[in-house]
Amino acid sequence: ARNSNETGIFLPHLVASMEQVEETYIMVKPDGVQRGLVGDIISRFEKKGFKLTGLKLFQCPKDLAEEHYKDLNSKPFFPKLIEYITSGPVVCMAWEGAGVVASARKLIGSTDPLQAEPGTIRGDLAVQTGRNVVHGSDSPENGKREIGLWFKEGELCQWTPAQAQWLRE
Ligand code: ADP
Repeated sequence: ARNSNETGIFLPHLVASMEQVEETYIMVKPDGVQRGLVGDIISRFEKKGFKLTGLKLFQCPKDLAEEHYKDLNSKPFFPKLIEYITSGPVVCMAWEGAGVVASARKLIGSTDPLQAEPGTIRGDLAVQTGRNVVHGSDSPENGKREIGLWFKEGELCQWTPAQAQWLRE
């Protein structure tokens, strides 16, 4: 019933439209780019089966970093965090799928890489909170907010992955 239509023909785009599709903003931070981890990090979300809708290499200006992390602006580490995020290019990504926000946070692992489980990005690839290689939105609302901050409308693409019918029954 989830993907039925009058003709009975399978239409992958109906699957997406009938589920609670979420978006999340994922970013490879400057240390991830400098350490050559971009491909590995993108690969994990790609292999999981989420849909990439935006991707770019970008030198983040200071005001955007401050806006992105505004909830943390009273923290003692805030100035160093802004310096870190603007210290070199980042890879900005928008990913889409049912449950993508919470699932991406699990794939990323705990904020402190020493506490992050093996198998997660931070658990496998990092050793310190101040250099934890990747960002992922913490709620669907922030997913939308952050994608709006980091991407212009023309930079996002809607498409139907060929694998859609093999990902969900
Ligand atoms: P997360 O990125 O896991 O959602 P937070 O929202 O708590 O974590 O923090 C945002 C980012 O700020 C972290 O990913 C990390 O880069 C940085 N950060 C957080 N806590 C610290 C800290 N104690 N010292 C240095 N940097 C920190």
